[in-house]
Amino acid sequence: MADRRTIETAPLPTRSGGRAPRARTSAADIAFSISRAISEHRLQPGAKLIERSIAEMFGVSRTIVREALIQLGRDGLVVLKPGSGAYVSTPSIAEAQQLFAVRRMLETEIMRALVPIARPLHLRRLRAHVREEQAAIRRGDVAARTRLLADFHVEIARCLGNKVLEGLLFTIVTRSSLILLVYQTTHAARHSCDEHTHIIEAIAGGDVDAAVGEMLDHLRNVEQGVLLDARAPSIDLQEALLGRGARPAKAQARLGGEAK
Ligand SMILES: [Zn+2]
Repeated sequence: MADRRTIETAPLPTRSGGRAPRARTSAADIAFSISRAISEHRLQPGAKLIERSIAEMFGVSRTIVREALIQLGRDGLVVLKPGSGAYVSTPSIAEAQQLFAVRRMLETEIMRALVPIARPLHLRRLRAHVREEQAAIRRGDVAARTRLLADFHVEIARCLGNKVLEGLLFTIVTRSSLILLVYQTTHAARHSCDEHTHIIEAIAGGDVDAAVGEMLDHLRNVEQGVLLDARAPSIDLQEALLGRGARPAKAQARLGGEAK
């Protein structure tokens, strides 16, 4: 629920999930607010992030905003174009479809190979991983939840002890996780996490067909969610970051007042 609130009314969380410990807004706070606005579809791929406007909205210097945009650029969420400015990254839908097609091929074969040899140690490791996903979802940490949801699939490949396969999967899953970071909603993230539990239980049950079926259902659901969400309409920068009808100064006063 907490992450459905707008930036205007919510205390600014830090990227690691805790409440902002001081009154001043840092570059990390701004980067977190922007990444949350992107992941919640309040900012669309391709949207221009105007340094001066963001600095005014949050009542900080342009240097701090620039630092936040550079950080987002490193995460692949923002593209910095020299002489033009910063834009929300635009992963293509065609690329997403190709990535998911490859994942279906690889990950169904991984299930066929893993189910007959899965040991209690593997299941314990996978269940512990899902608990970390649940914690990140609960604290509204979009970057951590996206990384953990993606890592689950690499963790499964790791159980097979094949380094080539693990590396290949890591690359493909990381590329698709950027697309998820941009398009996946909190609701969809929770759903994905539940499906990870179903996959683990199918592996534990020793039924190859059931495990392959759970994995295929999961990948199909994630892909369909991305394709549907990618058609959402775009909105204004100020409205995206501060909420509908918000006045920058008023919002800043609230942010300052609520930061504890
Ligand atoms: Zn998954």
